[in-house]
Amino acid sequence: MGLMPPVYVDESACEKCGTCYEKFACPAIGRKPDGLAYIITDLCNGNGSCIQVCPKNAIKRPAREVPSK
Ligand code: SF4
Repeated sequence: MGLMPPVYVDESACEKCGTCYEKFACPAIGRKPDGLAYIITDLCNGNGSCIQVCPKNAIKRPAREVPSK
């Protein structure tokens, strides 16, 4: 695992368009049998480059404490 925590797919937002796993082709993004994307957390380095790829903003960073200033 890298320095950043893995991202995750918000399944209520994913529209199974395939952009992330077909076009972006990050090895840490998989396709479930129903077409939903999922993150293979052992491979995700958390850099979040896939977040911009998703047209539905379904790939998200986990909630975590944010510096207050
Ligand atoms: S790009 Fe976004 S909406 Fe499309 S399959 Fe991936 S997570 Fe789902």
